Amino acid sequence: MRLLLVEDELDLADWLKRALSQSGFVADHAVDARAASVLVATTNYDAIVLDLGLPEISGISWLRELRADGNNTPVLVLSAHAALDDRVRGLSAGADDYLTKPFALAELEARLNALGRRARLAQEAVTQFGGLTFDTETRTFTVGGRLLGLTPRERAALSALMLRRNQPLLKTALAERVFDLQSDAGPDAIEVVVHRLRKKLVGSGVRIATVRGLGYMLEVDEPAA
Ligand code: CA
Repeated sequence: MRLLLVEDELDLADWLKRALSQSGFVADHAVDARAASVLVATTNYDAIVLDLGLPEISGISWLRELRADGNNTPVLVLSAHAALDDRVRGLSAGADDYLTKPFALAELEARLNALGRRARLAQEAVTQFGGLTFDTETRTFTVGGRLLGLTPRERAALSALMLRRNQPLLKTALAERVFDLQSDAGPDAIEVVVHRLRKKLVGSGVRIATVRGLGYMLEVDEPAA
């Protein structure tokens, strides 16, 4: 994966570049928003790691500009504050994920890999899994050519599960994809959504498995013997 690292703390940037390259990432470094703009104009990155606390032009302002220019490169935002406010501002400016400093390198790598997978999947307009077909442009699901009728929450949940098919998705992570931050949905609300989805998926050739202690996983239903 080719990365752009936008970070004004040089020690952190150097360390990250070295550590990430040992894990097979290729990282370019921009020390501020201006340098980052020059690099994204000439290079196609698989993901951008963006520090919010940059000199002159803030990370948030730069991200808004990037999105306004039509650049959809996945962006993972780094912030020194765990404040909900920062997280909300980052996500509403167009960030795809969020990590608070200090963070574990393994966590950053796992999230970058997940962003890369999502981006690759988004490039394929139609994804087939079992008997289920997902059109990522219209965000519709069909089974045997028949449109699957879903509520917006069911659609959000099934899309998230489809993007991570054959891998467990944490219950909390799934809930984050389905309920917005303002939602007062309780911790069990996601179970209701999954329960309804399971009923609708009967006969589709895929099922939502419960992975004990981890969450849910979309998998191909074993055909009846
Ligand atoms: Ca900084």
